[in-house]
Amino acid sequence: MCRHLGWLGAQATVSSLVLDPPHSLRVQSYAPRRQKHGLMNADGWGVGFFDGFSDCQVPRRWRSSAPLWADVSFDSIAPALRSHCVVAAVRSATVGMPIEASATAPFTDGHWLLSHNGVVDRAVLPLSSSAESVCDSAILAATIFARGLDMLGETVVQIAAADPDARLNVLAANGSRLLATVWGDTLSILRRDDGVVLASEPYDDVYDWEDVPDRHFVEVTAVGVTLTSLDYPKGS
Ligand code: GLN
Repeated sequence: MCRHLGWLGAQATVSSLVLDPPHSLRVQSYAPRRQKHGLMNADGWGVGFFDGFSDCQVPRRWRSSAPLWADVSFDSIAPALRSHCVVAAVRSATVGMPIEASATAPFTDGHWLLSHNGVVDRAVLPLSSSAESVCDSAILAATIFARGLDMLGETVVQIAAADPDARLNVLAANGSRLLATVWGDTLSILRRDDGVVLASEPYDDVYDWEDVPDRHFVEVTAVGVTLTSLDYPKGS
């Protein structure tokens, strides 16, 4: 399983979210603490963030198939990258999947940034000519983009029904909404005064992180955080 992190809030530097904390994604790339599948995340990394204001936000990405801990150049640039909305990931490739930058999250459709922490049988996903890679996560991202992010929870439940072994922790953002599903792996929430972090595992032991139960959908907006069970229809 990979590890991912999302941020929605005030402008923050990418380094403060991804590199600096004691158990940041950089540390999780070689020493994750809650990873259930795989020992480390050495098969690439990606950082995406939204640039611009209100209805004119552009997703920008930097992805690599090398380990995050080995990237000395990013260390110098990350403190200069600031955004109110970030999606970042470090990757442990599933057996048989290509190791290449295009297979590394975050994926995008030009409006959303999306990361997948898990595995899914590609046979249960529709064929997609818009997937960025043949990697399961890239095809899953194309499927979710095609269905629309308003259907994210329903899409995850349907794919899990078709592939009961699938693990489907998805994290997605569009600059004003940060969405996540928890289906088979860990996710924690940190509610800070200046915004909200969703992360596969806490990046420190200082603050009060909340663990999200399995089979839940999380939505973060400027209004707040909502958690919905994916086992039951919304509202029940
Ligand atoms: N299955 C995806 C891949 O191969 C994600 C793997 C993961 O979560 N470790 O990249």
